[in-house]
Amino acid sequence: MIELLGKSLPELQEIFVTHKIQKFRAKQLMDYIYHRYIFDFDKMEQFPKNLRTWLTENCIISMPKVITESVSPDGKTRKLLLEFSDTSRVEAVLMQQHYGNSVCVSSQVGCAMGCIFCASTQGGLYRDLEAHEIVAQVVLFGAAIDEDIHSIVVMGAGEPLQNYDNVVDALKLMHDEETFNISYRKMTISTCGWVPNIYRLAEEGIPFTLALSLHATTSETRRSIMPIGSKYALPEVLAAVKAYYDKTQRRVTFEYILIEGVNVSLDEAHQLGKIGKEFPNCHINLIPVNGNEHIDLYKPTNKHMATFKEIVESYGVSVTIRKEMGDAIQAACGQLKAGHAQKEENHE
Ligand code: SF4
Repeated sequence: MIELLGKSLPELQEIFVTHKIQKFRAKQLMDYIYHRYIFDFDKMEQFPKNLRTWLTENCIISMPKVITESVSPDGKTRKLLLEFSDTSRVEAVLMQQHYGNSVCVSSQVGCAMGCIFCASTQGGLYRDLEAHEIVAQVVLFGAAIDEDIHSIVVMGAGEPLQNYDNVVDALKLMHDEETFNISYRKMTISTCGWVPNIYRLAEEGIPFTLALSLHATTSETRRSIMPIGSKYALPEVLAAVKAYYDKTQRRVTFEYILIEGVNVSLDEAHQLGKIGKEFPNCHINLIPVNGNEHIDLYKPTNKHMATFKEIVESYGVSVTIRKEMGDAIQAACGQLKAGHAQKEENHE
């Protein structure tokens, strides 16, 4: 079967022309999928009967199955646990903010990176997602709310730069005006510091926003919570991010998870401020760790977090403490999936 989801207009035109189908039908097909959210060939009424039959017999639009859906109490955050045809599962999150609808997608099934604060990595890496499987996560939310999606963050399960080609292909497709027409500046790729591909991304000449999961101010602390830190020391990672900034002039975001007793001393706040100062217009996002039965880590007190933030801010850097809107629905990376697996285990 030919997968039609995730294909660009020229790719679909080539498929159609090869099978002696008029080229203009490819554009109509994209309109059905990405604007009208119709995935059933029989419901594509502009197509003649023989084309619908050919599509049904030869092609597929693979949409994952929704296993569970969680909605935050204010209704603004929705998280889906999705299952693909090979039964592998990922999560995707929709955040309806005052500035528009944002979707956080997963890029891999599981993750090989082993960050100690993350539930997604607990079973290791199962496989990379195909470009169409990344696109499908956004299509599903678009269909569910029947509204435009304004931004995409690749910050769910997986290390996006380890699945480079599929992630970049998916984002290019979702930038296309035939699909969601989302500006590259509204697309954020979050990496734990996969150095070679940060340089590669800089060379693409595409103004994606880069978010670095920094999480520590020394190589030693970073190594202790993120195994990638043993492969690339902190100065190497920061040099790659600086190169990305120099090449693209895009504001860099640093993610910094706050873990009591690990990376939240006041000295570390000063070090973080100094790092931020090196990156013009950067933004630092402080994230209270979301401990649960799978992750035995604790966030600092609100008072300590406020002091930590003030110190970082005193270096003239833009800083926010992430609103914990995900808490009620376990929206930290990987937690819904882990929670669901636990429930299934308990059930057996
Ligand atoms: S935080 Fe990101 S890179 Fe680290 S283990 Fe989780 S999914 Fe992988």
